[in-house]
Amino acid sequence: MIKSEFNTKTLTHFIGGVMKPGRSERFGKVYNPSTGEVTAFCPYASVEEVNETIEVAHSAFAAWKNTTVAKRVEVIHRFRSLLIEETERLANIIGLESGKTISDAKGEISRGIESVDLAINAPHMLKGEYSVNVGGNINSFSMKQPLGVVAAISPFNFPVMVPLAMTSMAVACGNAVILKPSERVPNSALFISDLWKKAGLPDGIWSIINGDKEAVDALLKNPKVCAISFVGSTRVAEYVYHEGSRNNKRVASFGGGKNHMIIMPDADLDQVVTAFLGAAFGSASQRCMAISAAVPVGKATADAFVAKLKTRVLELKVGAYNDNNADFGAVITQESKDSVIKYINESLEEGAQLYVDGRNPKICETEKGFYLGPTILDHVTPDMKIYRDEVFGPARIVVRVNSLDEAIELINNHEYGNGVTIFTENGSAARKFSERIEVGMVGVNVPIPIPVGYYNFGGWKRSKFGEGHMFGPDTVRFFTKTKTISERWPESKDNENKAEFSFPSNQ
Ligand code: NAD
Repeated sequence: MIKSEFNTKTLTHFIGGVMKPGRSERFGKVYNPSTGEVTAFCPYASVEEVNETIEVAHSAFAAWKNTTVAKRVEVIHRFRSLLIEETERLANIIGLESGKTISDAKGEISRGIESVDLAINAPHMLKGEYSVNVGGNINSFSMKQPLGVVAAISPFNFPVMVPLAMTSMAVACGNAVILKPSERVPNSALFISDLWKKAGLPDGIWSIINGDKEAVDALLKNPKVCAISFVGSTRVAEYVYHEGSRNNKRVASFGGGKNHMIIMPDADLDQVVTAFLGAAFGSASQRCMAISAAVPVGKATADAFVAKLKTRVLELKVGAYNDNNADFGAVITQESKDSVIKYINESLEEGAQLYVDGRNPKICETEKGFYLGPTILDHVTPDMKIYRDEVFGPARIVVRVNSLDEAIELINNHEYGNGVTIFTENGSAARKFSERIEVGMVGVNVPIPIPVGYYNFGGWKRSKFGEGHMFGPDTVRFFTKTKTISERWPESKDNENKAEFSFPSNQ
């Protein structure tokens, strides 16, 4: 598409410390999901532009690697302060381009700052090991060194939190980072770039390359990119994992999820319904850890749960990102809205029962935003498409089971294993569930069990590919390589001229 067709802001890349216009003549539309209007054009980088950015990052790397870790962390401290100072503006940008409410956007910024906090601990986390006199005057030690140029490819649904989680520790460890944000939310990433610059990060250590598959493929192919951190849909996560690994890169690749909430007969249903509402519909259900399926155990629990839920769901308010009374906002695009409606319609043909219908919310006569109200479908079964797929919008389902064992089996048979939670007052049920469930992040009476920034994050099964990590302590391992040194300073030169041909032993 040629941008001059439209009288709208044209965005840039951020390369070598400056905002750089795109040269490819390929652009994508960026929407305000709350109004349906196009607000900007995002340049889609060519292979040549990506390769040039990698060269800039590669040239900047050596000096940053050799900067003391204390100086690197000073920059990160300043970046953290700027994120806090600019939270209001940044939340507004996130809301404008993603549709999520301002309070939700502020929540994501504060969770993103947890990763920056962890990066401030880099001096401690980068420490190596040291062993004295492992054999004949030899000391052994190990050190962690940065990889070089590393790339992060992020999704639309957390325009700030996920990029911060993927990159803060990478920068602290001394790497040069290239972020390819989602083409649907490029403004937030460009705004962060300004903060890095103001914080004193040297030019070339943080770059933004905007684009689509062409840019991603160029990052996956270029041999100077040492590691790829990816977050997005499972289809693309799997592709990025295989392509990146095939090209000898380290890859941490995070995909989608289908997160269940088990409701045991002894659970406090008022508490459960309150927890379900926020976890299921917050951010218009566009969270990889959103609860998508309620799994009440027993008919009495299910009937009581849906009855209580209906009253509360009908009170939810959908609205523009800057409407302070809105519980959640619009979904990201018209295509996304259409896809959710299609899932609802197909499930009805397959026999699901429509309990609350959010397909045609009444927001405001003039609004053309991509709004969907909350939908609840009951009597959904595991063979239905709406159960099998991740549905990224506010259509939530109830799958009824008769026992905890049946609930565990249901969840363990699902292809995704990102998050799960159980609501119960019975400790032994909770313990059995936590131990047997095949899911990476588990909650007990906690609706969205996203670990805090200093724990590792990640799903199992087809929610994550590879062993690399996005945040938490394991990120340090992901963004560094370990070197082990054996060092000998003999006290005398006796025997120095005698060659030793047997394998070195420490006897
Ligand atoms: P997406 O897969 O469409 O896009 C993610 C990134 O991949 C974007 O930068 C995009 O430009 C790029 N991309 C898209 N298609 C590509 C292709 N064919 N080849 C190469 N690159 C491509 O995901 P999205 O819609 O932006 O984000 C929502 C998805 O992300 C959901 O599935 C959600 O569950 C998942 N997600 C997962 C986590 C997690 O931690 N597991 C966190 C947030 C979001």
